[in-house]
Amino acid sequence: MSQNKAPKNHVFYRNQNWKYPRIERGEGVYLVGEDGRRYIDACSGSAVANIGHGNKEVAAFAKEQMERVAFTHLSRWTVDTIEKCAEKVCQWTPGDLNHVYFVSGGSESTETAIKMARQYFVERDGKDSPKWKVITKWNSFHGNTLGALSMTGIPGRRQIYEPMLIDFPKIPQFYHYRNPWNAATLEETSRLAAQALETEILKQGAASVAAFITEPVVGSAIPGVHPDKIYFDMVREICTKYDVLLIMDEVMAGFGRTGKHFASDHYQVVPDIITCAKGMSSGYTPIGAAVCNEEIFDTIMVKGSGNFIHGHTYASNPLSCGIAWKVLEIIEREGYVANADLQGAYFGKRLEELYRYPIVGDIRGKGLMMGIEFVKEKTSKEPFDTAVNCKGKFTINCLDAGLVPYPGGGSVDGSRGDDTLLAPPITITREEVDELMEGLHTAIAKTCEELL
Ligand code: PLP
Repeated sequence: MSQNKAPKNHVFYRNQNWKYPRIERGEGVYLVGEDGRRYIDACSGSAVANIGHGNKEVAAFAKEQMERVAFTHLSRWTVDTIEKCAEKVCQWTPGDLNHVYFVSGGSESTETAIKMARQYFVERDGKDSPKWKVITKWNSFHGNTLGALSMTGIPGRRQIYEPMLIDFPKIPQFYHYRNPWNAATLEETSRLAAQALETEILKQGAASVAAFITEPVVGSAIPGVHPDKIYFDMVREICTKYDVLLIMDEVMAGFGRTGKHFASDHYQVVPDIITCAKGMSSGYTPIGAAVCNEEIFDTIMVKGSGNFIHGHTYASNPLSCGIAWKVLEIIEREGYVANADLQGAYFGKRLEELYRYPIVGDIRGKGLMMGIEFVKEKTSKEPFDTAVNCKGKFTINCLDAGLVPYPGGGSVDGSRGDDTLLAPPITITREEVDELMEGLHTAIAKTCEELL
């Protein structure tokens, strides 16, 4: 053993300044530390553990599948679990989104979607098709791999990698609380945000634009922010008018999280491609997918080359597909989507109580995908100085109060408040929501004491 292999922490954690508590096990909505402390998983990891922790039925299924066949490569074989999972996903997707390309996670799903969009236009219009640009938004998150990061609109995640990114055009988010138009209503903000898409398509030239990507409810960038239905009515029309594909990034919002199968259902919008991951397997295995409509599939796979120029080693992994199928089957059987709707409505109502604290500026979201934005002063919406570390203090106070929130994107330039995502497992009961609320009251009250 060489000298530099002396005992040390070998894990390259994400944040060296954070002392990572060691978790021993999970049980339903709870995570249990090795010291025996129980925490409500108020964010399901990062809106992942939809059916909660420690599900024995999933574990038994995974063992059985692992013993039967754990891995085959998608270039040669198929397995019943791959077909069953694709069928189940398509029972949940809206409209004619009937073709599932499996990958290993969210970033791969958004990367896949934009490559699918590009190949669609090449197969349809020829190899010289000028359509390749993807219009995206500021204050959005679509993943951390370089293509996905090129679409992501969180400056703090992008800055040091900017020389390596594709310069995709970006328009403003439907962020009503701090909208750049000073619109008075969510409907007006949504209308103006949709108009910004049309303006950008015309600026870029519709002939060069392949797709527009958006989250239906914003996740980690500005948790819980969502538009009025008018936004997607207009966006769908604009995309169709200019021959631009609409990609809905449901990586966080999909699979029951917002009280509907997909968050697209809230707006009755049918995108051309849905990207998804996270809740698809509830974190029991890494998996994601890009699900496309008949037109895209037919153009590439039936009338076209029949060969999507893409692929990862773990795409269509039979073990992951089996586990995701089992998770979705449990969600259906136990009625957890309806539970997310029911408990989400209760949670949303109870969260309104938090406006009594001087640092709570905005609360927004759908179902069990809720966000809180903290401010120094409510009327002016002035954020805390980043050096004050409001988010960090709130997080520690939450852990002390026995719950785990998810950090939102916050702002790097102080242009908006620190925020947090609250997204407990969709199995949550009313009593557990009450317990979560009790912890939140304690944590926010303490944060106020520390900051004001
Ligand atoms: N898209 C959205 C909307 C997300 O919320 C995330 C992750 O939080 C991603 C894409 C990237 O997913 P992953 O972290 O699995 O690569």
